Amino acid sequence: MSYIKIVLKKGKDQSLLRFHPWVFSGAIDFIEGNPKEGELVEVYNSDNVFMAVGHYQIGTIAVRVLSFEKTIINDDFWEQTITKAFVLRQTLGLVDNEQTNTYRLIHGEGDNLPGLIIDIYADTAVVQMHSVGMYLTKDIIDCVLLKLYGNKLKAIYNKSEGTIPFKADITPENGYSFGESQSTFALENGLRFKVDKDRGQKTGFFIDQRENRSLLELYSKDRTVLNMFCYTGGFSFYAMRGGAKLVHSVDSSARAIDLTNENIELNFPGDERHEAFALDAFKYLNDIKDKYDLIILDPPAFAKHNKVLKNALKGYRKLNTKAFEQIKPNGILFTFSCSQVVSKDDFRKAVFSSAAKAGRKVRILNQLTQPADHPINIYHPESEYLKGLVLHVE
Ligand code: SAH
Repeated sequence: MSYIKIVLKKGKDQSLLRFHPWVFSGAIDFIEGNPKEGELVEVYNSDNVFMAVGHYQIGTIAVRVLSFEKTIINDDFWEQTITKAFVLRQTLGLVDNEQTNTYRLIHGEGDNLPGLIIDIYADTAVVQMHSVGMYLTKDIIDCVLLKLYGNKLKAIYNKSEGTIPFKADITPENGYSFGESQSTFALENGLRFKVDKDRGQKTGFFIDQRENRSLLELYSKDRTVLNMFCYTGGFSFYAMRGGAKLVHSVDSSARAIDLTNENIELNFPGDERHEAFALDAFKYLNDIKDKYDLIILDPPAFAKHNKVLKNALKGYRKLNTKAFEQIKPNGILFTFSCSQVVSKDDFRKAVFSSAAKAGRKVRILNQLTQPADHPINIYHPESEYLKGLVLHVE
């Protein structure tokens, strides 16, 4: 079996030599043939040395690398690579865990499978493809999942409708590719939540905040908590369990507020410490002087690409300045950025200058990131996307 050959311009093999898993279209000298979007291709440098094999894509990223070895990408390849990811989650204690049945099985480049996300929610796998090549592999991926989990897996839901960049000749529709989900609830550290995989963001829940929510629980006792950008209320129900005096959840989406209320009701029925408001963050934060002594700011990605980085940093500064101005003395601020293009350093600078602007004395208590089921490929720094700080504000 042979794949279409892509040959790079002279000197353009450096990033592949460092195992970066993308080939940009500008690095290509010529293509021997006419690959279809999603087809497997082999990449060679200008001296005709094999570099990588991966999925061809139309756009700035021309190839997403699956292997740096001369390999045939067959069923065995998929089984071995997905099994490696599964074994890692076993090592992390996430498989067959009675308190947490929700975790990320495949984290794209972080698991050497660019363009593929798989999240496990109880007995359901939610699969999301970000490349045509991965989408075309969906049946094989489903087979491997069924082999790995056996009858513990009751359903596979494909949610790629909005994430495939070029639709070539395919029109993905969200829906079950196997079974149908029996259980509507998932568990995270013993707390229950509803998964809105059809209409919800990402695959339905932000799994990447699991450990940060646990940490928040420890800080919550007797505090008045504001969970800003609450979405499904993840941080709120941990704050409740941690013994907060009061928890207010705010999100501009009315749907998110409904989900938050449902999740609170699931875990703390009738508990009057919680209230949720469908309001804009920037407005809400204007008028809360000394009301809260624990504030969580977990906004959506302000920058999706480099061109808007400057504006995004302005957004983080504005948001954090407001929180610093309003938080009670000796308050705790959990502040996050999930923008891939905002580096850890950029984010810190934005937060620190906000503190200075608000004239508050601030100390770093914890430095947060994504959990180990969202591994960071060191050769693909973009996969380190979640950054957070826990700050003490005098
Ligand atoms: N903290 C959440 C995830 C937040 S996702 C968790 O742990 O699951 C970002 C949320 O910000 C979305 O729910 C979105 O509706 C909300 N949002 C976006 N812009 C907003 C704004 N200007 N004011 C308030 N909420 C906003």
